Amino acid sequence: PSDSGLRLKVEHIKKYFGTFPAVDDVSFEVRHGEVMAIIGPNGAGKTTVFNVLSGHMKPTSGHIYLDNVDIAGQKPHKVARLGIGRAFQTTNIFPSLTVLENVLSAVHTANRHTYRVWGLSERSVRKEAEHLLSLVNLTEHHGFPAGALSHGDQRALEIALALATSPKVLLLDEPTAGMSPYETQQTVELVRRIVAAQGLTVVLSEHDMEVVFGLADRITVMEAGRVLARGTPQEIRENPAVQRAYLGE
Ligand code: ADP
Repeated sequence: PSDSGLRLKVEHIKKYFGTFPAVDDVSFEVRHGEVMAIIGPNGAGKTTVFNVLSGHMKPTSGHIYLDNVDIAGQKPHKVARLGIGRAFQTTNIFPSLTVLENVLSAVHTANRHTYRVWGLSERSVRKEAEHLLSLVNLTEHHGFPAGALSHGDQRALEIALALATSPKVLLLDEPTAGMSPYETQQTVELVRRIVAAQGLTVVLSEHDMEVVFGLADRITVMEAGRVLARGTPQEIRENPAVQRAYLGE
């Protein structure tokens, strides 16, 4: 009963490359509808945690409970079907297809996996695609070839493609990397919007502290493969170990 409200529970994850512990006994919890940011310097192990969460890497040991089902070590397509979506890890965009065609194709693919018997009607698929486009503010660009979008808009499209599978948890690797200040602000608003609209749970990694403090309900700080600190943005800001090791204050 103490676990009610928990969406994701990561327990004692280790990932060794040979004898090197890239992730060394990492645990954290994320509640329904929460935004959790994982921060830490380069080499801290953030990407490896994401790869383990999405099934792209098998953990050496540990458990990953999604709604109390241990998904650790499952293959990426299985993990995606169980409800963990990931944007930005690999680009799923078809550059010569239009923005709408990209989203339609993602909704079709998701639909094949989840509604085996009846399938959604063509009309519902289109409605869902249009809903996703409006959520990520790309309605006006629906007829553009996806490859012609700006960097920020391509990333918004990648989020729409990830949302097409109706994930319970969305993983966002460095969502604002390479973005202008304007695009960064748009992305912060986009993440807020999808969390509010879909009741989504989000785990993100991010270097930009303004983005982290603007979005995260809770923060996990990693250093050298381990958890250095965890807490609310307020607690992390005031944590002396974090200030010394990471924020450079
Ligand atoms: P971060 O994303 O926080 O920058 P990473 O998870 O990418 O950190 O890397 C953590 C550590 O693991 C680094 O020291 C990195 O060099 C090492 N590492 C990552 N991937 C591999 C790999 N495939 N083989 C060997 N070492 C790796």
